[in-house]
Amino acid sequence: MKRIFSVTIMGIFAAILSSCGTQNEEKAWVVDRFDDIKVIRYEVPGFEALPLQEKILIYYLSEAAKCGRDIMFDQNFKYNLAVRRTLEAIYTSYEGCRECEEWKALETYLKKVWFANGIHHHYSKDKFKPRFSQEYFEQLLAAVPAEKLPQEFGSVEALKEVLLPVIFDEELYASALNQSAGIDVIKASSNNYYEGVTQREVEAFYKKMASVNDPRPISYGLNSKLVKENGKIVERVWKSGGMYSAAIDRIVEWLEKAEGVAAEPQKAIINSLVKYYRSGDLRQFDDYNIKWVQDTVSNVDFVNGFIEDYGDPLGRKASWESIVNFRDEEACHRTEVISANAQWFEDHSPINPAYRKEVVKGVSAKVITVAMLGGDCYPATPIGINLPNADWIRKEYGSKSVTIDNITFAYKKAAQGNGFQEEFVLREEDRERMTKYGKLADDLHTDLHECLGHGSGQLAPGTKGGELGTYTSTLEEARADLFGLYYLGDPKMVELGLIPSLDVAKAQYASYVMNGMMTQFSRIELGKNVEESHMRNRKLIAEWCYEHGKADNVIEWVKQDGKSYVVVNDFDKFRELLGQMLYEVQRIKSEGDYEAGKALVENYAVKIDPELHAEVLERYRALNIEPYGGFINPDYRLVEENGEIVDVEVVYNDNYVEQMLHYSKEYSFLPTLN
Ligand code: ZN
Repeated sequence: MKRIFSVTIMGIFAAILSSCGTQNEEKAWVVDRFDDIKVIRYEVPGFEALPLQEKILIYYLSEAAKCGRDIMFDQNFKYNLAVRRTLEAIYTSYEGCRECEEWKALETYLKKVWFANGIHHHYSKDKFKPRFSQEYFEQLLAAVPAEKLPQEFGSVEALKEVLLPVIFDEELYASALNQSAGIDVIKASSNNYYEGVTQREVEAFYKKMASVNDPRPISYGLNSKLVKENGKIVERVWKSGGMYSAAIDRIVEWLEKAEGVAAEPQKAIINSLVKYYRSGDLRQFDDYNIKWVQDTVSNVDFVNGFIEDYGDPLGRKASWESIVNFRDEEACHRTEVISANAQWFEDHSPINPAYRKEVVKGVSAKVITVAMLGGDCYPATPIGINLPNADWIRKEYGSKSVTIDNITFAYKKAAQGNGFQEEFVLREEDRERMTKYGKLADDLHTDLHECLGHGSGQLAPGTKGGELGTYTSTLEEARADLFGLYYLGDPKMVELGLIPSLDVAKAQYASYVMNGMMTQFSRIELGKNVEESHMRNRKLIAEWCYEHGKADNVIEWVKQDGKSYVVVNDFDKFRELLGQMLYEVQRIKSEGDYEAGKALVENYAVKIDPELHAEVLERYRALNIEPYGGFINPDYRLVEENGEIVDVEVVYNDNYVEQMLHYSKEYSFLPTLN
């Protein structure tokens, strides 16, 4: 199982474009702040200039993108819709003081639930702790007209009986995703991909399904919940007529409208997706993916489906998500150059030649402008996508890699002048390089990671993939990151005209190490380990290079005025270490060496020094920067004359609460219990 949908939010941390941004400018981009979250708006440059047919297509696909929101809530946890709907009923019918502290606390809790698509933090996966009392909640609940509350529980009492422990019992459903070694990860994770089954039962169930010699294995389990019914383990498939049917049928309706205005080959692609939603047949999904990945001509493109497998501790079940986008022509040039040289990069990769791909196929790379985000991509959003996920499709047909420029741009805009760089970057020359080259360095690193990194290398004969178990995604992200970092510092990049000088790599190396060994801990609660794969991967790389470069003082901890800083002293040696590490991580993947992979992750990626952790949290807190960012969508409105669509207008929003309530009202199709 390969994790490809990379979510890097380096942008918030590293490389602040410039410090000349004014407060006013920041306000315009950040529309809401609460807890550890800031909500940003993004713009869709170029939309107005699109041909009418493409605007209408984007409109239909955007509607389809919004219709699956409830699915993500329910996938994350089976009572998420009950919590959200109850809180929304309270929120919209409340007539008391909206400035009081407890009300504010409840409002923040609801904002967090909206943001995370549920009651577990979108990143740490830990359950939120409400900062209002149970008594207060019960009091508010009692004031809501019963008909406004979810009816599926039979009575308000029964609803309350479920919700109170869900919200207030800290031990119950404590984590949506728990991958700790040596436990039953299915039982310990409270996501809604499995119910009533043990990890051993799940593994046995799917082992029996997979035929060992199939060169084109189906992604078994991808689009279903695995449950025990009358002692028998069965899949409840997410399809029209199956689980989540009410939302899927609406998605299909809009997709069919989109099909009606799309040109070939996109028309056939959408048709294929609709067939899959109707049948739930994963062969049909493969068929759709094969068609989709080969379409490199359509200007408008989209993702809509059960795609992302990070939420499942076993990396099998996929969360629903959607992104609608169109090409950003200017920025595409950058990735075209990388793509055109894919074979050169593969041939020069510092890995065992036996594990290089002889022919690198179909690396299509482009930069896109996002027009709509949905499901698992909303409000927290990736800045790069690489799909499809099935290894054999990638091998035979290639993959599509995109970076999302308008999102990255909005992140940078929102981070201008927040004081982060001054606080954590020790050396003036590093600060200067980050300011000057930060965005370019981040963009290129993402391009290399997505366009080449994940697709590079090959397995040894006999290795099937999946051998690395719960360490798969961390090691896969590390492999792609190492590839990107290594080549960012290659003179070839200058030669290709992609960077003006290797200072761009130095900017990235300094910020990457600082983030991996220190600043990213600002997003983790004191006492907790690093869990999320991308965070683990960054720590793994930075710590490994620190350890292996110790004799030469390649990376150094510096104490100054009681504050800790981590600096890269020798960029050339650091790059050599990246190459050596890539060699080893590729070997581990190619050979499926579980023990070596486990040792790497457990030794370097998981544990945080508590003293350093506390210091980072304190310094970060003092800056008042929210460590996580997400986005609100624009709206699209049809302009009609005499019953005919003559234009589509884009309308930018600046109110997070309004958008969430609007979506809950207009795009909520699932029952509270599924
Ligand atoms: Zn990735």
